[in-house]
Parts: sequence; structure tokens; C-alpha cells
Amino acid sequence: MTHVIKAPDPVAIPVAGTDDTFPVHRVFCVGRNYAEHAREMGHDPDREPPFFFEKHTSSLVFAPMPDGADFPYPQKSSDVHHEIELVVALSKGGNDISLESAYDHVWGYAVGLDMTRRDLQGAAKKAGRPWEIGKSFDHAGPIGLLHPISEAGHMSEGHIRLDVNGETRQDGNLNELIWNIPETISYLSGLFTLQAGDLIYTGTPAGVGPVVKGDILQGHVEGLSSIQITVT
Ligand code: MN
Repeated sequence: MTHVIKAPDPVAIPVAGTDDTFPVHRVFCVGRNYAEHAREMGHDPDREPPFFFEKHTSSLVFAPMPDGADFPYPQKSSDVHHEIELVVALSKGGNDISLESAYDHVWGYAVGLDMTRRDLQGAAKKAGRPWEIGKSFDHAGPIGLLHPISEAGHMSEGHIRLDVNGETRQDGNLNELIWNIPETISYLSGLFTLQAGDLIYTGTPAGVGPVVKGDILQGHVEGLSSIQITVT
């Protein structure tokens, strides 16, 4: 048996300090997971159940500093926003993972950007349509080097920040997550059979805003390698 067309290249993220890579299975994202960001988007930050969307693995772009990566301004939008996020990489999966065992499913962490065509996402929300065109376009998921938990530890706190052209636009702390990492893994595993290779973008702190061509975005999470994109 042979494939009738060329199979797509597997997507894998380099691991910090090694020649190894982490093969990616799926990319889940949590919506509105910091109270201040929920408020700035016009929502009540009360603790509602978490909600999720997916980015396609083909939207991932490896963008570690110092060189980073180019982010071509996407088609069909004039309001593209940055969302800096902590990304969790799973070493194993399952259904109905308990809070107590959730951290045992984590391989490591990376810094990511959930780039968003806010105008298209807003129109989709208003029309009750899916978010894909706002969230899962080409280059929509810049990500940095992956750090194993043996090095990074488990990330329940630490600064998360995004600078645009050297000026801080988003500044938060992982301890402000409405649904923390074990809670997110546990809840998500009630909706999907999670698998090794799944990534979870955990949500963005307040301060999201538009980017323009020429902008240089640098994203940082305390303890992890930083990322950079240049809007072209
Ligand atoms: Mn996001």
C-alpha cells in the first residue's frame, strides 16, 4: 500500500538544549482564562466552565529568540491581535484525568502566541459561527523551544509578558489563570481522549491588541526560552 499523494511532513517542536524534537498531535487552546482579559473582551470573569477551540498543527511556526520568525500579515483581516500564552505539552493522554494525576501527563512547557484575526473572530461570534478563520490560519501559532518539566518544573506561577517594539503590552502572572494547568487538563480530558503530543495554549493575560507590519513582538514566560516574531 502506498499513499496516493505525498503525506504531509510531521510537525515537531525542538526541545531546548538538545537535538530532540517533540512531535505534535493536536493544538488545543483555552479561551478567556485570565479575568482581566475576559473583562477587556467584554465578558464577565466569573468562573464559568472553561471552553476550548483548536488551531491546526499547520499553523504552528517555530520562532525562538534570538532570530525568531517572520509573521506574514494574514489575508482577509485588518485587525490581527497578539495573545501571549503558556503552552503545555502532553507526554501521555487519557479520558477523565484526575486533578491529582494531571501533572503526570505533562512533558514540558513552551512560550506561544495565539495570533488572532480579531475582526473575523468577532464576526463569527456575532453570527454564532465557528472561530477557525479567526484562530487557525497560516502562521497563527508561533511557538518557542520546549522545556521538559525536569528543567522547568511545574508552572503554577511566573511572569508572562509580551513586548511590542520594546514596549510592554501584556504583563501577567501564571498564578492568575482562572483554570490552572491541572484543572485545564482534567476538564479537557472529559471532552476529548487526550493523547501524547497534544499541546494546550492556556490563555492570554490582559493587554491584547493589534499588530502592524514592521512590529517586532517578543514573548516571555519566566523560566522558559523567549520567542520573537516580525510582522511582515
Ligand atoms: Mn488565546
